[in-house]
Amino acid sequence: MRKNIVAGNWKMNKSLQEGIALARELNEALKGKTVHCKVIIGTPYIHLSSAVSSVDTDRIGVAAQNCADKESGAYTGEVSASMIASTGARYVILGHSERRAYYHETPEILKEKVKLALTAGLTPIFCIGEVLEERESGKHFDTVKSQIEASLFDLSPEDFAKLILAYEPVWAIGTGRTASPAQAQEMHAFIRRTLAAKYGEEIADNTSILYGGSANAGNAKELFSNPDVDGGLIGGASLSADKFMPIIEAF
Ligand code: PEP
Repeated sequence: MRKNIVAGNWKMNKSLQEGIALARELNEALKGKTVHCKVIIGTPYIHLSSAVSSVDTDRIGVAAQNCADKESGAYTGEVSASMIASTGARYVILGHSERRAYYHETPEILKEKVKLALTAGLTPIFCIGEVLEERESGKHFDTVKSQIEASLFDLSPEDFAKLILAYEPVWAIGTGRTASPAQAQEMHAFIRRTLAAKYGEEIADNTSILYGGSANAGNAKELFSNPDVDGGLIGGASLSADKFMPIIEAF
């Protein structure tokens, strides 16, 4: 059965001290509470190791926000998937629209990153989503399908089954403009049908598909109540426990 997941993406925010304080605060807030989803925090690289030791990782998983497309070697400034795994982090966000747009990450590069992440034992949270012009011209389904096909469809069924997907319409990220629950459900159901056509119903049914894009305490419940929306990837509202906890508790 697929899991409900609420994952935070801190992006390039918080000093090490601020990040650890937030990780500890979330850990405390979740202690002794029954929540109906897996919680993940996506921190900058430098926070990973300390975040892992600041939380109960059975309760809060820790994710990197990127990894290198090379295994190791002379790639100054890069951080490999196996280095991330060595911190105790178990997840990595890949294909975020900010990485695609600002750092020119192509489907081929992302394909490599996904493979290296899986080899290192990390669970990729793979992001897909259309820009506004694509939605307005009715190309959003084609865009999302081709993003999935180009980076993920040469994975074996066993490897594909390890992924988490996140549908993040680019026009909704950080804009305060959320996809309506109906728009999210329509796209998530389309993604699940696309997965079923390639990998079969069982894998499609068991894949968690998160929604991302200006999700917050006020809209999470309605978004998560859709049958194909299995949680959220949360940017701005993951930066404080006060805003993040109600999203976790929306399940
Ligand atoms: C994100 O960047 O993954 C995201 C969903 O951001 P926000 O929630 O701030 O729109």
